[in-house]
Amino acid sequence: MQTEGERQKNFFDVCGTCKINCCWDARPPITLRRKEIIEEYLKKHKIPIENPFVHTEYTFPRENVDGYCIFYDKATRKCIVHPVKPETCVAGPVTFDINKQTGKIEWYLKMEKICPLAGVMYKEKNLLVKHFEAARKEILRLVKELPPEALKTILKREEPETFKIGEEEIESEVLNKI
Ligand code: SF4
Repeated sequence: MQTEGERQKNFFDVCGTCKINCCWDARPPITLRRKEIIEEYLKKHKIPIENPFVHTEYTFPRENVDGYCIFYDKATRKCIVHPVKPETCVAGPVTFDINKQTGKIEWYLKMEKICPLAGVMYKEKNLLVKHFEAARKEILRLVKELPPEALKTILKREEPETFKIGEEEIESEVLNKI
């Protein structure tokens, strides 16, 4: 059985050599609370990024001219706000949808062809179970905190090349927003 440290190493090894960049055209939703946490983190670590967020139907990190998230460091291939990154970034390769008819939140995993880490997780079920626990917590907080317009907008975004790994009932407070 792998130790926690070995598991973490697995994550970095897989993501560090991956040629598909999930931080390109990512536009992860940011809640007001997360926005403040990230701004505080940037200030504390003296990371000079002006106006890091874009506000449209929902708030997300702006992109550089190549379409990469402004928090993506091309040189190290890492996220510069990793400890406080957005909920969907923590959750990936687990993604979600909300089915208004069934009243359930549905959980999906990216296919290996678009995310090698998802492939590793799928083969090593312990890893997936542990990651899913954290992903679920992050996403449930996100859907609760996002304003209705923001939640409706992000749910319109298609996520092909994923497959369903589970579902559960979601609070009416969330369902009423969509
Ligand atoms: S916040 Fe970090 S992990 Fe999320 S898309 Fe931007 S660079 Fe990638």
